[in-house]
Amino acid sequence: MVIHWFRRDLRLDDNTALLAAHASGEEVLPFFLFDTNILDKLHAANDARVTFIHDSLAAIQLQLESWGSSLHVAIGEPVAEWEKLLTRYGVTAVYANRDYEPYAVKRDQAVKQLLEQRGIPFYTFKDHVLAEPHEVLKDNGEPYTVFTPYSRKWKNRLPQLLCSPRDLLKPRWFPFAMPLPGLSLIGFARSPLVAQPFNIDADLISNYAEQRDLPALRATSRLGVHLRFGTVSIRRVYQRVAPLSDVFVNELIWREFYQMIVWHFPHCETRAFKPAYDRIEWLNREDDFVRWKEGQTGYPLVDAGMRQLAATGWMHNRVRMVVASFLTKHLLVDWRWGEAWFAEKLLDFELASNNGGWQWAAGSGCDAAPYFRVFNPTLQQQRFDPQGLYVSEWVPGLHLPGYPQPMVSHPFARQRAVGHYKKFVGSLV
Ligand SMILES: Cc1cc2nc3c(=O)[nH]c(=O)nc-3n(C[C@H](O)[C@H](O)[C@H](O)COP(=O)(O)OP(=O)(O)OC[C@H]3O[C@@H](n4cnc5c(N)ncnc54)[C@H](O)[C@@H]3O)c2cc1C
Repeated sequence: MVIHWFRRDLRLDDNTALLAAHASGEEVLPFFLFDTNILDKLHAANDARVTFIHDSLAAIQLQLESWGSSLHVAIGEPVAEWEKLLTRYGVTAVYANRDYEPYAVKRDQAVKQLLEQRGIPFYTFKDHVLAEPHEVLKDNGEPYTVFTPYSRKWKNRLPQLLCSPRDLLKPRWFPFAMPLPGLSLIGFARSPLVAQPFNIDADLISNYAEQRDLPALRATSRLGVHLRFGTVSIRRVYQRVAPLSDVFVNELIWREFYQMIVWHFPHCETRAFKPAYDRIEWLNREDDFVRWKEGQTGYPLVDAGMRQLAATGWMHNRVRMVVASFLTKHLLVDWRWGEAWFAEKLLDFELASNNGGWQWAAGSGCDAAPYFRVFNPTLQQQRFDPQGLYVSEWVPGLHLPGYPQPMVSHPFARQRAVGHYKKFVGSLV
């Protein structure tokens, strides 16, 4: 028997490693591990991502049961759980799709070592992205650090890298039955926040270029969480959107650009991509941070975004850029504080894009907004929410007496930010 280890690929359709496991001709045991190294760091007992994973596993389980099989689900630390699994079953090979995050790379290394000690091959596959971090490099073999040339090369290379989506035709599962453990057994409760289904209908994708920056509209795909956990195949998404919108494809390339950056420059997980920015002494005022988190800054667009995040686990991209700029530049709070808050709250949280987005806003990232570019939250609102539909949806008391005055004036904050950054970063922008 061979094992398929589900991780960021929670689907049966067009799943590269799963197809390869079936092509081995052996019976396939599907396995999922609730990794306590990750779960123990989560703050809320009703974390929405855990609920999303659980629901996705339940959908897989239902399908497997109809085929007389089941998911084998374990809860614990990866190497220890793999040891138990290998004791229980006669495993001849393990299949999984590659995950490029620093923690996942270390985890897979440790599991690979264990499997090797037992003489069991660990086969891994590209599935999560269209181009892996080493597949799009400069002509001299170095990684790109600027998006535009990376995206050009990505597009040139794609015909060689792209496989067509495939269906699982004659699955041969290991026959057994195991109930899916309930959320409470994993130490969690159901979240009231439910991920929106994604929308890649022709209408939305064709209008994406014109409407994607308008937060009042439902004009973006909501694919984030689905791509993060692999409940949809990136190849199927690409096949659908590529003929309709180059601008949309560019966003998919940003996702792969940031994954490539974290892979080649793992220091940016905890430090500035550009080391000079590590010299900045942030003001880090706790009460400022609390007002930002609670959507009480007095800037309606910032407050609407923060309240949308708290209420739904999602925030529109334009508004993510504005709130991140506001925290790091208007309030001079360390980008890592904001990054951690998003990591806790976003359903579509993904280390590379979140880190990339935050470092972009703070100016410290590769290809980032220069430090002297300080978004004016009022102008951003006038431009992208001219009728105030988005802000009044999320900040209904906007014109009532209880709504706060702006916590810091824009001209003052802008000048302070530029001076502060200049002092610490100097001319090394
Ligand atoms: C400060 C900040 C933090 C962010 N944190 C995350 C995060 O944790 N996880 C995450 O997936 N995205 C993050 N983004 C990028 C972007 O905001 C979200 O991907 C997007 O808003 C998700 O909504 P959607 O699925 O409707 O996107 P759409 O606009 O429909 O885009 C389609 C897909 O393309 C990808 N994409 C789009 N924009 C970007 C981008 N700028 N960078 C990388 N990928 C992109 C995503 O996978 C997205 O689902 C962040 C951006 C900023 C400025």
